[in-house]
Amino acid sequence: MKLARMPDGSPEVFFSLQGEGRSIGRPSVFIRAALCNLHCRWCDTDYTWNWEGTSYHHDRESESGYRKYKREEQIVDRTVSELVEAALQFSCESFVFTGGEPMIQQADWMKLMEGLDVAMANRPWFEVETNGTILPSEVFLARIDQLNVSPKLTNSGMEPQMRIKGEVLELLSRSGKADFKFVVGSGEDLGEVLDLVEEFSLERDRVFLMPLAHTPEMLNLTQKKVAEWALGHRLRYSDRLHLRLYGAKRGT
Ligand code: SF4
Repeated sequence: MKLARMPDGSPEVFFSLQGEGRSIGRPSVFIRAALCNLHCRWCDTDYTWNWEGTSYHHDRESESGYRKYKREEQIVDRTVSELVEAALQFSCESFVFTGGEPMIQQADWMKLMEGLDVAMANRPWFEVETNGTILPSEVFLARIDQLNVSPKLTNSGMEPQMRIKGEVLELLSRSGKADFKFVVGSGEDLGEVLDLVEEFSLERDRVFLMPLAHTPEMLNLTQKKVAEWALGHRLRYSDRLHLRLYGAKRGT
């Protein structure tokens, strides 16, 4: 599998508290996939896709010192059995598949889940964090326990036809296993979320508003406004616990 690579060359597999959504605060093993089919301008894991030689734009390009990444320095290959071994070292039964966009490597995650099912005494819990543009297979949907779907809004800089896939959102909404988590910072963002809730009949108890923030300071500035929107529209609020605890750091 193609995984995000830590500076020491190891794959980004780490033990931390789930920082967002329904399972916030749960100790989990995170496995971060390399590659994404989108290229959102505020992405906090741009090292999974913003390669040298591409024409993608990221907000951080205006910062002095920001450079696009060398692809070969950011990806590491591991077999599924190597990953099973790496994931087992934490003695934890909860796993989060994240990225990048993990659903690009859907068949491999399926094999990984099968491997962990066999290797562990108790049934493991599997969550995937996805942008909701890639259709999950029937077997994948049957085994995964929770999908944290984060459809992208106009604020991502992506074209609507790339970021909103109606058939995927409809299937995920019907599955009863998906939450929908939207990154919001403005009234326009909120309006788009409300339109999507209507269009795809998303259950409000499964819709999370999460502040657009790259730093704990930015989170502190926007959290109250977003919390009030959630209350006012009977939606859920999601914090970004990992950002508060550790800042914007890889492997947390
Ligand atoms: S979909 Fe997620 S990982 Fe991909 S570019 Fe957007 S924010 Fe980053």
